[in-house]
Amino acid sequence: MKLTERCTVFISDLHMDSDKPEITTQFLAFMQGLKDTKDKLDALYILGDWFESWVGDDDPDVEKRKAMQSVKELKEMGVPCYFMAGNRDFMVGEKFAADSGCEILNDPTILGLYGTKVVLMHGDTLCTDDVEYQKFRAMSRDPAWQQQMGALPLEQRVAMAAQLRKQSKLETDGKSEDIMDVNKKSVFQAFAEHEADTIIHGHTHRPAIHQMAKDDTTNYDTEKPDFLTRVVLGDWYEQGSVLIWRKKGYELKTLVR
Ligand code: MN
Repeated sequence: MKLTERCTVFISDLHMDSDKPEITTQFLAFMQGLKDTKDKLDALYILGDWFESWVGDDDPDVEKRKAMQSVKELKEMGVPCYFMAGNRDFMVGEKFAADSGCEILNDPTILGLYGTKVVLMHGDTLCTDDVEYQKFRAMSRDPAWQQQMGALPLEQRVAMAAQLRKQSKLETDGKSEDIMDVNKKSVFQAFAEHEADTIIHGHTHRPAIHQMAKDDTTNYDTEKPDFLTRVVLGDWYEQGSVLIWRKKGYELKTLVR
């Protein structure tokens, strides 16, 4: 994807691994376009689930390594690159940061984007109707749990990640669409808590630009502009999904392959 105007680029939910090399192929072409037009690119943000799984910073998956190398090259060309962990790749550490050239961001992160205050999230914390998942999230983000996991032999972690994916797919198939989408109240809470009018996230694989009247929430400052905006990035299973944010306006693009 070649850039024509100065901008910041956001992606998420590529779900890359060796089972789906076509995603890496599309991603590398996308990255080449960014490199070719790097003078127009202020920063690249990857908002989680870059990978289908991440068993630790010794993850040997060749496709993931190729993708990381391409981002590192962009960073070395002078473009800041950022990564926020998703629910698949939360085991990232310092070595991942060094190997990918990405600075790891907290979830949420508040960003000043050409004068607009924006909340960046992966999006899973907004899906509060999925109680089982939220329990798993609390457990798996505990540093003690992560340390214990990280100490296991690589083969065992690879096997566990495969098992988790299988289990997650079974559970996901059994859950209603509503449960796996964001909870409206949690969305409004996020806007209010961060005193921001814009949220960018992924995770739900439902690309859209939602605009909501602030009247839908209580305790909100009515002096501020009239709409809350939630931009949801799509996944890369069948095509690419990219948010291009310029000084004047933004665009949620589908990259056909
Ligand atoms: Mn996710």
